[in-house]
Amino acid sequence: MYKGIAASPGIVIGLAHVISNTPLTISRKTIPASKAETEISRLKAAVNRTKADITAIKEKVVHDIGTAEADIFNAYLLLLQDPMFTGKAEEIIRTQLINCEYALHMVLQNYAEFTNRISDPYLKERSRDISSLADKIIRNLEVTGKKETKQSAEKYIIIANDLSPADTADMDKNNVLGFVTEMGGATSHTAIVARSMEIPAVVGVRDITSTAKTGDLVIIDGEKGIVVVNPNPKILILYKEERKKFILKLRMLKRFKTLEAVTIDKHKVELTANIEFPEEIGAVMENNAEGVGLFRTEFIFINKSNLPGEEEQFEAYRTIAMKMSPKPVTIRTLDIGGDKFLPYFKIAPEQNPFLGLRAIRLSMANPNIFKLQIRAILRASAFGNVKIMFPMVTIPEEIDEAVKIVEEVKAELKRKEVKFDGNIKIGVMIEVPSAAIMADEMAKKVDFFSIGTNDLIQYTVAADRGNETVSYLYDPLNPAVLRLIRMIANSAHKAGIRVSVCGEMAGAPHLAFILIGLGIDELSVSPSSILSAKKLVRNISFKDALEEAEFALKQEKGAVISEHVMASLDKILMPKKKENVDES
Ligand code: PEP
Ligand code: MG
Repeated sequence: MYKGIAASPGIVIGLAHVISNTPLTISRKTIPASKAETEISRLKAAVNRTKADITAIKEKVVHDIGTAEADIFNAYLLLLQDPMFTGKAEEIIRTQLINCEYALHMVLQNYAEFTNRISDPYLKERSRDISSLADKIIRNLEVTGKKETKQSAEKYIIIANDLSPADTADMDKNNVLGFVTEMGGATSHTAIVARSMEIPAVVGVRDITSTAKTGDLVIIDGEKGIVVVNPNPKILILYKEERKKFILKLRMLKRFKTLEAVTIDKHKVELTANIEFPEEIGAVMENNAEGVGLFRTEFIFINKSNLPGEEEQFEAYRTIAMKMSPKPVTIRTLDIGGDKFLPYFKIAPEQNPFLGLRAIRLSMANPNIFKLQIRAILRASAFGNVKIMFPMVTIPEEIDEAVKIVEEVKAELKRKEVKFDGNIKIGVMIEVPSAAIMADEMAKKVDFFSIGTNDLIQYTVAADRGNETVSYLYDPLNPAVLRLIRMIANSAHKAGIRVSVCGEMAGAPHLAFILIGLGIDELSVSPSSILSAKKLVRNISFKDALEEAEFALKQEKGAVISEHVMASLDKILMPKKKENVDES
């Protein structure tokens, strides 16, 4: 049993597919002459398997992205047929009577010696391709001859050292039951994407790729952050029960769907949804969210082969605006950098990407890309209730600059008689301590604030949100974080604007309780968390939330606040033994 960081709720039980990152160790073994043909058959079987794997990936790329992007896979397939490659390995097996892993290794060494002498970058790249192909074949040699696991026919659980947000966004829900990674934190974008795709996940599980094996039976408890490998029958029965309870809990929450999000003492809390993909609008409507509080637009950019043009972006924004209308849709401009990168949009390597050219900074450095996105958003605003939001604002000048660009684009659209909402609301994310401290000044410049606690926490405590080794510092209840949130909320209200929280903190009921008490007007959470947030709101009083926040602000330690809020919620929710599902 492993304890990791809970990244995406749900309980799943299935077979593991381990993606190993450890470099292969290849030893030389001599074989008798009589075994040479058997060894060559092993090699051929592994090559065929590799061909099948590459063809499958190629077909997926052709289907999802396009034929041109699949060219690289044709090159791989050609290489597999090249007599200089596997043919050479066969010859070495026959003449030197050694195992095929080592024969492949020798072929690779010959290539490496050859390519080291040339400077042509294209050929150098090819040598890397060959090396990764040899790696694939050798890994397939390990599988060949072993008992076939059922993972290709059944859904499986991915176990990997790390997965990028793009890898996660690319997962096929028809095949992947859940995933476990060694790296990562609860608010890393990989975890956020998993939640939006409703794929249970646990991250930050040390060393699991070196102990779990492909084909092992695995349980993921994405709510508690527990992973069990090869459970005994007792544990298996227990988790099957837990899984049933989890599904039942989700079903029970449906009763809150049509009810208003108000506290017992009639304080209104707006409940909106965070989305990464336009397809999530179905889930947003199904859970009856009061709008989209955050659309992370970078995800429509992330698994593409080119930067999406104005029309493609416009279509995506317009579709969402129309489907949600008259409810609001807050479209956040590109937040690339940090842990999100575009393969076709290269940023110079940085020592600290989270402190580098990210979000609004990147947009400012690339005004054409920024303007194009603003144009697409403004055009979409003619079809619904659209708001613009800028991520990671650090200094007030960035707001001035960004608003100036919006005004320029508006003027251009006006000249061309293109329709847009002339009163479109503009807001900023407050997720950097400097912005929190200057929130009073910033509030005068915008129509709304949205607090990005995922980043605000990491920048306040200087602990990377995706680094499991410092996750003990990454505490949403750190009093410094709570004091900053209070400061932002006060500044917003003083200037007469509204403030939401769209970080993951808003989706955890005990944290939402404190946020409401700190004066947050709106919680923007993943679509699947809307109903549990509503259940919380309807079962608390604003007065209790205010008291809880007051208590929290006086504390020195996050652990004390955590214990207190849990106890308070238990006290508030338990005695009633009923959920406030009455129409009111
Ligand atoms: C945040 O930082 O809290 C936020 C909502 O933005 P993101 O998670 O995309 O950085
Ligand atoms: Mg952020």
